[in-house]
Amino acid sequence: MSVAIDPVCGMEVEIHDEALTATIDVASLSVATQPGRTAGAPDPNVAGGERFWFCGRGCLLDFQDEPERFLDAGFQPSGM
Ligand SMILES: [Zn+2]
Repeated sequence: MSVAIDPVCGMEVEIHDEALTATIDVASLSVATQPGRTAGAPDPNVAGGERFWFCGRGCLLDFQDEPERFLDAGFQPSGM
């Protein structure tokens, strides 16, 4: 079983078919070239897209609202 890190809360999330996931066009964001930023898994279906996994709907919605905030190298997940 592989796991991903929820970029919002820092929890480990199991990757499975029903996991909450979102692909963000990171290449279009200003943080795309920032050293040390949080990176997702490259999504072969979306040019410049990276895929992220979430522990719950709250984290997913927060992330979709402000992806740059959570990908920033200076962001510290608060935990839940
Ligand atoms: Zn979370």
